Amino acid sequence: MTQRTFFVKTFGCQMNERDSEIMSQSLSMHGYVEGMDLESADLVILNTCSIRAKAEQKVMSLLGMLRKVKLAKPDMQICVAGCVAQQEGEHLLERMPHVDLVVGTQNIYNIGELLDLARTRPGYVAVAMQENYDIPRLMPARNEKISERLQAGDDVKLSKSAVFRKFVTIMQGCNNYCAYCVVPYTRGREISRKVNDIIEEVKVLVESGVKEITLLGQNVNSYGKTNIVTENGLPCSFADLLHKVAETEGLARLRFTTSNPKDLSDELMRSFRDIPSLCPQFHLPVQAGSDAVLKRMNRKYSVAQYLDLVDRLREYCPEIALSTDIIVGFPGETEEDFQGTMDLLDKVRYHGSFSFKYSDRPGTRASDFSDKVTEEVKTARLMRFQSRQDEISLERNREYIGRVKDIMVEDVGPESLKGRTDTNHIVHLHEHVVAKPGDFIDVEIYHAGQHSLKGKIV
Ligand code: SAM
Ligand code: SF4
Repeated sequence: MTQRTFFVKTFGCQMNERDSEIMSQSLSMHGYVEGMDLESADLVILNTCSIRAKAEQKVMSLLGMLRKVKLAKPDMQICVAGCVAQQEGEHLLERMPHVDLVVGTQNIYNIGELLDLARTRPGYVAVAMQENYDIPRLMPARNEKISERLQAGDDVKLSKSAVFRKFVTIMQGCNNYCAYCVVPYTRGREISRKVNDIIEEVKVLVESGVKEITLLGQNVNSYGKTNIVTENGLPCSFADLLHKVAETEGLARLRFTTSNPKDLSDELMRSFRDIPSLCPQFHLPVQAGSDAVLKRMNRKYSVAQYLDLVDRLREYCPEIALSTDIIVGFPGETEEDFQGTMDLLDKVRYHGSFSFKYSDRPGTRASDFSDKVTEEVKTARLMRFQSRQDEISLERNREYIGRVKDIMVEDVGPESLKGRTDTNHIVHLHEHVVAKPGDFIDVEIYHAGQHSLKGKIV
């Protein structure tokens, strides 16, 4: 019997990327093989995002397209996983009756069994959420043995830089209920994984050749605060966890994301000074530069407090490259409020940022706020913000010109090479270099663009 092929299409954040990897590994263990594309696969999984209305619309239009593919291929299975699945549940089938399986965010670990069920009961929905949900202890085996494959000359797969950089989920869910955000509803209550499980997973990855680990959670700063994460029941803060993970022999680079500034401790800030492998790069979403807006967003910090955190971070780690998330046009945002965001941008001078127009999400508090900002104003504010950020990013990137940076090689061509600095900047080299993905090389930066740098070998 030929094996059924699967294809996973991922939307949204890094948490989803990691979840897709978990589902793929689980399916491989269940006898499926990875296919080349959506149209030809026997099983298509859409791992979805519902953070903004646009993300959800993208999923719906792809599902519409897949309806036609399935008509010509009735044996095909379509599965919707992740945040849209969690949010919509059975309602999804009313709009998309050709979907075979709807899998919520806490149910992805049983994807193989659920697909078997859906073979006999198409339209199966598994979106139950538990209050005291425990992230399964047994993660799929991760023994890619990258170093062995390198020696065997397995270049095709290895040109994918992703094999040397991996995500490790350290917690699920969120208890913060920021007024605009759907995550507490789609990902459930906050729960942290056990320290030993995380250390073990990192160890397996590093032993198989991985050089860089990014620890993932919606608010990593509150790691270990809502459940016991150690064998002896003693507390373990996120900074403690970073120290423990950094002890993994062979781990070259450590990163994490994301942090809510309200929980950023001095201990965590000191980690940037004290842990050599912790990369000097920090994504610290501020969302808005107006106290009134931050209050209505339920962010629980003020602009002054945020700026103080930035000062202290830079004291501990002068090299640190900061980035942020911004929402423009939150309900009730006045021109003056928005000017506060622009002023903050000039004060902090982020290396980069992700900025979004506020989008109403079902069930969130802000969706009931009455004083909505018009689409036209949101668009104008977003453009103003992004063009100033582009200028600042360029100025920031130019600060690297003339400096020597250690980059981890990601892709190698005959006359070119792409790598990444510890500050998370992409560097392009336009010369022949004898190196392979995963190597570290020193390069001198000679040119800066808005989104990347150019360097030459030293
Ligand atoms: N946990 C992170 C934090 O607290 O900053 C944010 C995670 S969220 C998945 C990523 C970003 O999406 C947020 O920082 C926010 O800027 C943006 N976002 C979330 N809900 C949004 C909404 N309703 N409209 C527009 N942007 C939104
Ligand atoms: Fe959403 Fe706020 Fe939780 Fe971040 S901290 S995931 S923005 S509710």
